[in-house]
Formats: sequence, C-alpha cells, structure tokens
Amino acid sequence: MGYIQGQIYANTGVVFLVITIINLIRYVLIAGLAFIIFWVLLKDKISYRRIQKRQPKPIDFKREIFYSMLTIIIFGIVGVIVYFLRIHGYTKIYSDVNQYGWGYFWFSVIALIFLHDTYFYWTHRLMHHPKIFKYVHLVHHKSNNPTPFAAYSFHPLEAIVEAGIIPLAVFIMPVHNGALFIFITFSFIMNVLGHVGYEFYFKGFTKNPFTWWNNTSTHHNMHHQYVNWNFGLYFNFWDRLMGTNHPKYHETFEEITKIPLISVRNQKAEILKLSE
Ligand SMILES: [Zn+2]
Ligand SMILES: [Zn+2]
Repeated sequence: MGYIQGQIYANTGVVFLVITIINLIRYVLIAGLAFIIFWVLLKDKISYRRIQKRQPKPIDFKREIFYSMLTIIIFGIVGVIVYFLRIHGYTKIYSDVNQYGWGYFWFSVIALIFLHDTYFYWTHRLMHHPKIFKYVHLVHHKSNNPTPFAAYSFHPLEAIVEAGIIPLAVFIMPVHNGALFIFITFSFIMNVLGHVGYEFYFKGFTKNPFTWWNNTSTHHNMHHQYVNWNFGLYFNFWDRLMGTNHPKYHETFEEITKIPLISVRNQKAEILKLSE
C-alpha cells in the first residue's frame, strides 16, 4: 500500500491479482456454464438449432482455453495500467454514483456498448487486413466452428487491441466502476453467445422491425466459417452500412431457425398429455 495525492493505493501485484481473478471467474462461470448447458445437457434436445454440424476436436478446446488464459493475464496488465492512470488523475473513472446520478450511470453503460460496437467493427476489419491478419487475428480464426471457450481465444497482440476499449472509454467519458463492471460482464455474455454454436433467436429476427439491428449467434459463427464477412459485434448497423453481411446470412439464419424452440416444448407437453 502507498499514498498518492492523499489516497491509499494498493500495490501492483494486488491490483493485477484482483482483476485477473475477476476475469477468470467470469470466464469459467459464463463460458463454462454455456458449455455444460448447451454442449452437454441439452446437446441432443437442441441439435436442430446447431449452426454448423462439424465438431471441434479436443485440440481446438485446448487452444481456445490456452489463449483465453493468456488473454486474461493481458487484461490484468491493462487493468493495472488503467488503475495507475486513474490514481494519477488521468481518467474520468469515478466512484460516487451521486456525482452524475443514476440516469447518467445507465446512460454510460449504453454509451459504452455503442462505443465498443464501433471500436470493435473497425479494429476487427483492420485485423483482417492481409498484412496484419496472420500476426494478430489468425489465432482467433483457428476455430472454424468455435466453442463457448473461444470467447477470449486471442493472440496476445489481439488481446491488447480488445482491451483497448477500456482505456479509450475512460479517457473520453466519465464511467463509474460499477458501470464498467456491468459493461464488461454484458460484453462477455454477448461474446459467449456469439461463440456458443447454437441459434436461440426466433425465425424472422434479422428482418423484424424491432430486432433486425441486433446481431445473432449465427452472424458471428458465419464469420468463423467464411472469415471475410460479418465483422460486427452487438449490432448489425456497420455490417449493413459497409455491405459486409454475408450474402447468405439471412437465408442461413432462416434455415437454422425454421423449427421454433417453443414448439419443441409444446410437443413435449403433448406427449406428456397423451401418456397420462
Ligand atoms: Zn475475424
Ligand atoms: Zn469469434
């Protein structure tokens, strides 16, 4: 522990450890739960919603988990840097909600999501540049049909790019610690959803006037399958604007979602009724 401008600060090792453990718990809990629920327990029941039929090999799981662990370490290092920038007064991170109020707190979470969506789309396209791709982004694309564990499967250089949204955001807008935590957790859940390998949304989702602007699990899975299409993260705005949605995206989505999830539940209820 030490003092800077009258404030107590923890030492580098402690900050690194706390951030790394939080990221690790989040990864194990969310990616692990998605794996157990959809790849083990419900595997047969939701097989008709599987996006690609090909099965990842044990080596794919190993690679995805290995690089995800490296990413978590790099996120810890970036976290320490942000922490030190913060205690020296270089960031707009604040810890008293009353400073800007709850309205701003929730607005900042939404703003972070939109900022991240744009940051991700353009850094992602940059990493697909033929001169950069193999040095930075190829590791993530070794998963042709990703598993939930691919969520953090990045080359260390890509992990730095992915972590970059946090320092960028806290330089340009006031962000409460809690808002940052909610944003990172939301982002990770969406990340796992993009790599889960199953489609859960309803038929017509990508064209429905209320939902078309959201990306789907099929969208990112097709990015892994076809590589140079579907670069977006949460939203479909940039892919539409830049004409980078895969030409068969909507068609593929409709094909995968032709059997509604709900109808399977109804069928089971029917069977139960008949057997009574
Ligand atoms: Zn990519
Ligand atoms: Zn991916």
